Amino acid sequence: MYRSHTCGELNASHVSQPVTLAGWVQTVRKFGSITFIDLRDRYGITQLLFGDTLSQQLDENPLGREFVLQVSGTVIERSNKNLNIPTGEIEIEVSSFTILNKSITPPFTIQDETDGGDDIRMKYRFLDLRRNAVKKNLELRYAVNRSARNYLHEHHFMDIETPFLIKSTPEGARDFVVPSRMNPGQFYALPQSPQTFKQLLMVSGYDRYYQVVKCFRDEDLRADRQPEFTQIDCEMSFVAQEDILNMFEGLIKRIFKDVKDIDYPEPVQRMTWNDAMVHYGNDKPDIRFGMELTNLKTVFEGQTGNLAAMSMFEGAGFKVFNDAETVLAIAVPGCSEYTRKQTDELTDWVKRPQIGMNGLVFIKCNADGTYKSSVDKFFDEEKLKVLADICGAKPGDLVLILAGREERTRKATSELRLEMGERLGLRRKDEFKLLWVLDFPLFEYAEEDNRWVARHHPFTSPKPDHIPVMIDNDPTITDADHYLSHPYSNIKANAYDMVLNGNEIGGGSIRIYQRELQEKMFDALGMSKEEAQHKFGFLLGAFEYGAPPHGGIAFGFDRLCSILGGSESIRDFIAFPKNNSGRDVMLDAPSSIDDKQLKELGLSV
Ligand code: ASP
Repeated sequence: MYRSHTCGELNASHVSQPVTLAGWVQTVRKFGSITFIDLRDRYGITQLLFGDTLSQQLDENPLGREFVLQVSGTVIERSNKNLNIPTGEIEIEVSSFTILNKSITPPFTIQDETDGGDDIRMKYRFLDLRRNAVKKNLELRYAVNRSARNYLHEHHFMDIETPFLIKSTPEGARDFVVPSRMNPGQFYALPQSPQTFKQLLMVSGYDRYYQVVKCFRDEDLRADRQPEFTQIDCEMSFVAQEDILNMFEGLIKRIFKDVKDIDYPEPVQRMTWNDAMVHYGNDKPDIRFGMELTNLKTVFEGQTGNLAAMSMFEGAGFKVFNDAETVLAIAVPGCSEYTRKQTDELTDWVKRPQIGMNGLVFIKCNADGTYKSSVDKFFDEEKLKVLADICGAKPGDLVLILAGREERTRKATSELRLEMGERLGLRRKDEFKLLWVLDFPLFEYAEEDNRWVARHHPFTSPKPDHIPVMIDNDPTITDADHYLSHPYSNIKANAYDMVLNGNEIGGGSIRIYQRELQEKMFDALGMSKEEAQHKFGFLLGAFEYGAPPHGGIAFGFDRLCSILGGSESIRDFIAFPKNNSGRDVMLDAPSSIDDKQLKELGLSV
């Protein structure tokens, strides 16, 4: 044995014990004839004391940072205690030491506060992983993994591995493909998720399946996405949506308890997709704070229930509002005293290309009951008050209004709400709010192909009473401008997302399990019978052999960990992540392969 203890476990109760430790040299400090060394391993740091003689030996053989050192000695009480660390009351009076290995000078300091930039830390990720901050994240990841597995195991879920070399059937994201040497000109694909396999497992009778599994999606990398990522992937048979919601609400609550010692108050809030879009402009609302969206367009169009307001605004002359497809507002609490500079800055903020609005209208609801706005020319104080009241603004609030095309304005107002929430400190990292978003639309309109695409995936079932709408109507979209009036746009799915603090952490659905309905689904998506048979014949065939009703969900494991760890970045929770261009800078991958490999694969580049 190289060691009797780790560097994190010795304390006052071990005083006078002989011990042997092994670890990495974090710091060397010389004081006259004696030397102190901080020795680090995965468990902590222990201070070593080298007396005169040994200190002299060190002078002859200087130890550098990150040398691997083994020491034997006795635990003694420290005169200068450090109560911030568990080993801070003791030190080891070293009697002998062995240098197990040397290290060249590391490219950055391996401490909580490092001087290493992102690129260099990624290139030397094996060194970065020695740092406490990164290690803590991986420990949290493991704790989440363990907690999930324990819960699922206790509920009779079985971990079953599914293959990584599968058939390419892109729907949604692009597949990563792998050439087959034994079948020249043919390719496997890496799974975007084990979706069809887990459904086949249900047909096979494994009624509760799970896997903590890698998934691969060749998407253009948006910030904080990884081409390979991990899901907690689950499927159950003989369940309705309610059963799934309960089971996986239980899973998340268990993770909160095990990992954060948080008792999440019952039950997780639920919201329909429709309400989420109307009140938050977003299908993954952050419900840690209010500031809900108010649609003011109805006021100007005389559709509001508020009759006084209606007549008041009849013919009100602000062209921007009158011409806009939509006018959306939020009431920002306590910001009525914003200065000109601050409102100008907010206006610039909404005009940035990422947000894309032409301008911002504001109403200051002053604490003294007066109103002041950027559109005083068009609205007198009485009208401003009515608008502010409709938005639920109180004295002291600042109403922010955006107007323009429906989708852009909705997105922009949603972003503005999040931004203001952030600025006001309403999105606290230590506060966790879960939400189920339910009743997603089954289809989404894809403008480029003028067809329907599955909003979740093609295996998601319509709500039972919407099935006839799908069966009885032709999917063809004859009038692209008015696709919303096509009956398909109103079909809702038994699909659900779990949202945590404004992030989608999981999503799933009740599945189609009859061949005819699945065929109809493929047809609705514009897939010919032949194509459906070619791509998904195995699944259609399986549905003819007694497929049980089933459904499931998958959680984004990396994202869940990063939120629980209070970090923005999922990369911090992955041992060996790719950078924002999808590269592994440590391995320098992807890279070209040599001609011999290409030839064997029957490929040319
Ligand atoms: N396979 C789905 C996904 O990756 C999740 C599910 O429907 O269970 O999003």
